[in-house]
Amino acid sequence: MSLQERDKKHLWHPLTQHKSHPNHIAITKAKGAVLYDEDGNEYIDGIASWYTCVYGHCNPYIIEKVTAQMQQLDHVVFTGFTHQPAVELSEKLIKILPENQEKLFFSDNGSTAIDVAIKMALQYHFNNGEKRGKIIALENGFHGDTFGAMSVSGLSVYNGPFEEFFIDVARIPVPNAENLEEVKALFTELITTHKVAAFVYEPLVQGAAAMQMHKAEHINEILKIAQQHQVVTIADEVMTGFGKTGKNFASEYITTKPDIICLSKALSAGMVPMAITSCSQKIYDAFYADDLKKGFFHGHTYSGNPVACSAAIAGIDLLLSDEMQANLQRIEAAHQKFNQEIQQHPKVAATRQQGQIFALDLNIEMERYGNLRDKLFHSFMSKGVCLRPLGNTIYILAPYITSDAQLQKIYQAIRETLDTL
Ligand SMILES: *Cc1c(COP(=O)(O)O)cnc(C)c1O
Repeated sequence: MSLQERDKKHLWHPLTQHKSHPNHIAITKAKGAVLYDEDGNEYIDGIASWYTCVYGHCNPYIIEKVTAQMQQLDHVVFTGFTHQPAVELSEKLIKILPENQEKLFFSDNGSTAIDVAIKMALQYHFNNGEKRGKIIALENGFHGDTFGAMSVSGLSVYNGPFEEFFIDVARIPVPNAENLEEVKALFTELITTHKVAAFVYEPLVQGAAAMQMHKAEHINEILKIAQQHQVVTIADEVMTGFGKTGKNFASEYITTKPDIICLSKALSAGMVPMAITSCSQKIYDAFYADDLKKGFFHGHTYSGNPVACSAAIAGIDLLLSDEMQANLQRIEAAHQKFNQEIQQHPKVAATRQQGQIFALDLNIEMERYGNLRDKLFHSFMSKGVCLRPLGNTIYILAPYITSDAQLQKIYQAIRETLDTL
């Protein structure tokens, strides 16, 4: 029996209605930018497996570092103990994060990185003797599926059963040239009439909202107001981190630096799960006290796992290498050229690009998880390209080592698919 058939007996997949979507493609191996299935088909991973494997699947350098670490130290409790990979990672990561970031707190995935950030912000005010309970978030933001992260996500596609249990969140529209003054006024009003603890946002690109993009100078206006009112700013760089936007972090484009940054996905290069919530000295200092209960009593069993840390260290080494930086520029330029061409296509309503991220909107209305989306997905797969449209948006966020020929194959699959619509 095939893996696809055996899968059906006991497995329950994420974000899936199994009745309408019973089949899952069994991937047996991956190398570089390519996935291989159990029937011998090959697919270029045009979304880097949800923006994780950005240095290529089964990257030999990462495998070498992780293998060496596995033989040295697999895991140790991170409360009361520390180790070389965590120390080395902290030194390397702090060097490339925005300059105000000083401390790193480990967890396991993007959602927990956000939950940690929210708890940090709430306790920051609590420790300073203030009770602030409201969080402000951007409309259509996505921050994950645990309760805190789900609460601040504006993109609650199917969150109906949980909504009444959410933490207290208010939403503001994403600021742009037209609405900036309005959004600033709304934000200021919320802050002055409510006890607002934090503002959480995806800097420059809202990934799950179909790669919606906003300008650094507009979000900066909101961050300035937050700062004036001691509202803790939380940048969710789970998707945008590690080179995706053309710089190591999207926050580098924005003048006002966040108090807290959430990292995951490409952090550990798709090898093993890990997340980090980083923060400024000011946040950390509010927890540093003679009083035991002012400490941050949050922890996950696998916090700071040495193997995951070694994957993250190897990932940063690769990101900063001349070879990878040249790849980033090469792919950005290729996307720009494709953008010029495809925006003329009669089925394309709009296109946008930020660094490695390219997106186009079809001028066809469709449901986020509807039939046309499935048709697009299957069309790409039949052409040997894995792209997962979000609603009527087709986007590319390929591994940085994707070759020119592989990029052309992705573009051609999009052209051919658009022609069939
Ligand atoms: C994927 C994502 C998350 C959630 O991360 P998980 O590891 O899936 O829990 C949070 N924020 C953003 C911006 C993301 O893209």
